[in-house]
Amino acid sequence: MTRLTDHFSLDELTQSETAARRRIDNTPSPAIIENLTRTAQTLEQVRALLGSRPVLVSSGYRSPALNAAVGGAANSAHMTGLAGDFICPGFGSPLEICRKIAASNIGFQQMILEGTWVHLAIPATGEKPARQILTANFGPGATTYANGLA
Ligand SMILES: [Zn+2]
Repeated sequence: MTRLTDHFSLDELTQSETAARRRIDNTPSPAIIENLTRTAQTLEQVRALLGSRPVLVSSGYRSPALNAAVGGAANSAHMTGLAGDFICPGFGSPLEICRKIAASNIGFQQMILEGTWVHLAIPATGEKPARQILTANFGPGATTYANGLA
């Protein structure tokens, strides 16, 4: 098992039930593994912020085919390995996690309160963190995003 950081492995940031079930190749390139390593480093900061409680990642890298299969956004940061979806039940709800991260100095690009999980994207190498914060609203047709935390 390849460790990216102390608490996050490459397996954890590339596994996908959908990919396994539909036999979709979700193997990251070396450049994407570099990005996943940076994502894992940010998740380590989040883990420490949340009292060093386990952060459970449900989705990290998604190949374009996998991203399409799960209905991800066409420009999803998951496709470049620059985003992770996670929960931290030992700390609190996704809203409580988002509030804690919003109040920290963690250099994220975009954070989305996705209802039952948190989406956190990091800036590409050399970019300044935009620290955009959104809340997803899952409508009957499309998902819309509101600024801030609801
Ligand atoms: Zn996500």
